[in-house]
Amino acid sequence: MSNANPYALLFEPIRIGPVTARNRFYQVPHCTGMGHLRPRADAAVRGMKAEGGWAVVSNQETEIHPTSDLSPFPEGRLWDARDVPTLRLMTDAVHAHGALAAIQLVHNGNHAQNLLTRAPVLAPSEMSVDTTQPKHAQAMDKADIRELRRWHRDAALRAKEAGFDIVYVYAGHNMTLAQHFMLSHMNQRSDEYGGSLENRVRLTRELLEDTHDAIGDSCAVAFRFAIDEMMGADGMQAAEEGRAVVELLADLPDLWDVNVADWSNDSATTRFQPEDGYQNAFLSHVKQITRKPVVGVGRLTSPDMMLSMVKKGIVDLIGAARPSIADPFIPKKIEEGRIDEIRECIGCNICVSSDNLGIPIRCTQNPTMGEEWRRGWHPEIIAPKKSDAEVLVIGGGPAGLECTMQLARRGYNVTLAEASAELGGRVGRESRLPGLAAWSRVVDYRLNDLKQRANVQLFTDSKLEARQVAELGIEHVFVATGSHWRADGVGRNTQRRLPRVTPDAKVLTPDDIMKGVLPPDGPVMIYDDDHIYLAGVIAEKLATAGYQVIFATPESLVSAYAVHTLEQSRIQARMIELGVDIRCNQVLAAVQGDAVRIGCVFSGRETEIPCASTVLVTERQRETALFDSLKGAGLKTLDLIGDAASPGLIADAVFAGHRAARDFERPKADADKDWFRREIIDLAEDAT
Ligand code: ADP
Ligand code: SF4
Repeated sequence: MSNANPYALLFEPIRIGPVTARNRFYQVPHCTGMGHLRPRADAAVRGMKAEGGWAVVSNQETEIHPTSDLSPFPEGRLWDARDVPTLRLMTDAVHAHGALAAIQLVHNGNHAQNLLTRAPVLAPSEMSVDTTQPKHAQAMDKADIRELRRWHRDAALRAKEAGFDIVYVYAGHNMTLAQHFMLSHMNQRSDEYGGSLENRVRLTRELLEDTHDAIGDSCAVAFRFAIDEMMGADGMQAAEEGRAVVELLADLPDLWDVNVADWSNDSATTRFQPEDGYQNAFLSHVKQITRKPVVGVGRLTSPDMMLSMVKKGIVDLIGAARPSIADPFIPKKIEEGRIDEIRECIGCNICVSSDNLGIPIRCTQNPTMGEEWRRGWHPEIIAPKKSDAEVLVIGGGPAGLECTMQLARRGYNVTLAEASAELGGRVGRESRLPGLAAWSRVVDYRLNDLKQRANVQLFTDSKLEARQVAELGIEHVFVATGSHWRADGVGRNTQRRLPRVTPDAKVLTPDDIMKGVLPPDGPVMIYDDDHIYLAGVIAEKLATAGYQVIFATPESLVSAYAVHTLEQSRIQARMIELGVDIRCNQVLAAVQGDAVRIGCVFSGRETEIPCASTVLVTERQRETALFDSLKGAGLKTLDLIGDAASPGLIADAVFAGHRAARDFERPKADADKDWFRREIIDLAEDAT
């Protein structure tokens, strides 16, 4: 690489114990919802990162023993030698592209519920498991600690056999025994593993020493450490005990991978943590204490920020989980000076929600994520066009923009027509709501690409009807006309008993609010039967504008789905701070001119709440009129995509646009086969 590249510093090799990273780009461990259940898919995800230039590619937390059973979630598993071949798929894929492979060994203590194995749950002291399971952990005695050390050592040896170059000891996210022993609020022991910090760190020290002893001749030993629990004086703090832990262990690990706990703080969304590099304040002193390399994270997508973090001595290696998911090719793009081609993470945590749902990873920005093995999709490569066909895409939301961009990348001449004055569709509208500004990156990335292509024509203020489509004479048409929010109160919880909406009721929808319409003066009820972010951000907007807001939902939590994106408790806390009157477990019964009636989902008992207007966030209706009118038009291709086909997440719309472009002029039978590709249990294997 030329020294003229202003980011040359990021491409220096870094020695990590006995191994050397080819540059400073380090994909820290992250889950994929694949793990031991879908090892081929997982290996393909990791291999893609290596191909994209990351010097180190880590897997995800990997259970070392059946007493750390995270079922039903498919994390990594290395209980015995039979798990080695599946993990070798990953190390082979990573090594094929010249990167180092890292494995994050873990015993999850009381974070494991052992639902599959029914093994006893282990913890430093007596305590419940950390979910709502009615189950308790048992305090480990000295024999248990000796066993744990043996399991960890054996797993490290198996990791080496599987081909890993870096083996982790993991004390992070409030999810691991090593960390649980360190935390005074989880460790009430009176023996040499409890009491003073030195005693509480003893187990981690032993695990680090054992791992070095087992595999340190050829593998590096990394230590992932949550330096701050972000609970103030109620938990570990970076400047106090966090710093003291670094001082106690200083040069024992070959690498410090430092972050904050819990997972919701580490993987904070842009809605609640808008600044990229938000963990720097917690990291800055680590390098002054240890001589070993330090890696840190914080949604790092900007090469300038990466450079300044290295120059300022905050980190040696640039850590990334989500940025590497949104764009596995960040290192290559920086190396080749293609900075404006970086597909920046928007911090929405749809990737995180996949893991929380136990399904393969998906990403709003990168529709190929999770489809590398199943569909053979590559984020940077797409099949060239098969003919000189011209294509018309109608609707410039996320589905239409992605479809246009990928068709153009294939080489087709594409015309995109958008009815409104701006491209972006729902993303443009939603990103103007409180806390969602970073979501505009979905549009910015695609427009930046499209504007540089000579084979694309973009038209705004161009609402098409069937007649104009016929006049254009383009015979291949993708309709991405989106959806709108319904105003009649019908939603998943009101289908059996429709709400009574009187003619004098003042009803608004999210579309009105996003257009800038404000409710009349007086209290406003927001009724949420959608359960992800939108009703919550509208409540925030209106409460901040001075409205008295009442928030009703049939769920028992505000924005209940946002549990999966790690935001739910923050959303509810913010609403409480803003003085929103929260009414959970309430279904919409009637909307009248001066009041709304809501009914308890359990007892049916109705309550009347005086309010001047209501914002109904219930369901969306698909915009299919144009599509329907084109059905008899004799077009060679007519495809309905995105929210117009199935209203869902922005990630779903981007995926639909991408898939449509890939499948264009591809035999339908081949495309249909994609749905069925999966990893099937091999019955030929000895089950014992
Ligand atoms: P998706 O998420 O599927 O991309 P959006 O609702 O975000 O859907 O975007 C759909 C876009 O389609 C909107 O920007 C809308 O203005 C546009 N649109 C709807 N009907 C027409 C039409 N007849 N002609 C052109 N554009 C249209
Ligand atoms: Fe970033 Fe969202 Fe993609 Fe996750 S899903 S990597 S948060 S853009």
